[in-house]
Amino acid sequence: TEGRSRFAFFTPEMDLDVRSREEIYRELRVALADRDRQLELHYQPIYALEDGRMVGVEALLRWHHPDVGLVSPAEFVRSAEETGLIQVLGEWVLHRAVEDARAWPDLRIAVNVSPIQLRSREFVETVRRLVDEGHIVPDRLEVELTETALLGASGEVARSLSELRRLGVACALDDFGTGYSSLSHIRDFAVDRIKIDRSFVQALNTVPGAALVEAIVSLARANGLQLTAEGVERVDQYEFLKKVGCHEVQGYLLSRPLPAEKLVALLARRHGA
Ligand code: C2E
Ligand code: CA
Ligand code: CA
Ligand code: CA
Repeated sequence: TEGRSRFAFFTPEMDLDVRSREEIYRELRVALADRDRQLELHYQPIYALEDGRMVGVEALLRWHHPDVGLVSPAEFVRSAEETGLIQVLGEWVLHRAVEDARAWPDLRIAVNVSPIQLRSREFVETVRRLVDEGHIVPDRLEVELTETALLGASGEVARSLSELRRLGVACALDDFGTGYSSLSHIRDFAVDRIKIDRSFVQALNTVPGAALVEAIVSLARANGLQLTAEGVERVDQYEFLKKVGCHEVQGYLLSRPLPAEKLVALLARRHGA
């Protein structure tokens, strides 16, 4: 594989697909060593539907790959999980997010967490240390976990989640509805919020799609859960979600994920206006 990438003069590699897991592993290790240049978090604003105010942000990892350019985590998180690098990467994400969040003390900050991180003791200990050392107020922090993460979840995951909860850190169930036993997850794990997957928002203009979202909203509300819909791209989607009682939205209609400086500039403009 070394030779293949070295002699691929005529095929510019536009994404990571052509790379083997070992190559991605090597390059990710380099990225971690060179983190100030290659890794960055972008922050996507989350808005309350009730009054349109920005209430939080979701931290989304970005890799500025030296050859490929900007790479979505969708392309490398799996490799990072398979090779164990997700531990170091995930800790970096948490530290960076908490550090950056000092510039916006009034907003909740959501961080995506891999089940592998939750399975190890270190993650909860790191969060505890950050909280103890006063780097973050725990109620501002929320971890986002996918349903697939909970599917094969072990006792350690459940224990980590309840320890986080005891610290005051909230938990959101990400990509809600795309997994297999969504309802039992609400019951079995102490989640505070569900995030309605983009695919449901996209299907809102169909009759079954709209009914499905309405059902998810009333189910969540009946269980005292907060709801955030993701991937909101159009005004009609926004209006529908508001009408049926969803609490919060995020999506390109409102804002793309932004580098920290851009988010700070946006907040400054808002306060100045
Ligand atoms: P996710 O947690 O479901 O994040 C939402 C994804 O949808 C993000 O993609 C975001 O940029 C994108 N998005 C937001 N609004 C819209 C919209 O209106 N339309 C469309 N089409 N897309 C929208 P991104 O940043 O490429 O992240 C992909 C996935 O990678 C995330 O999905 C999350 O599962 C994972 N991820 C991101 N950051 C991290 C991280 O720090 N750690 C871990 N373990 N996973 C991460
Ligand atoms: Ca997420
Ligand atoms: Ca999601
Ligand atoms: Ca997703």
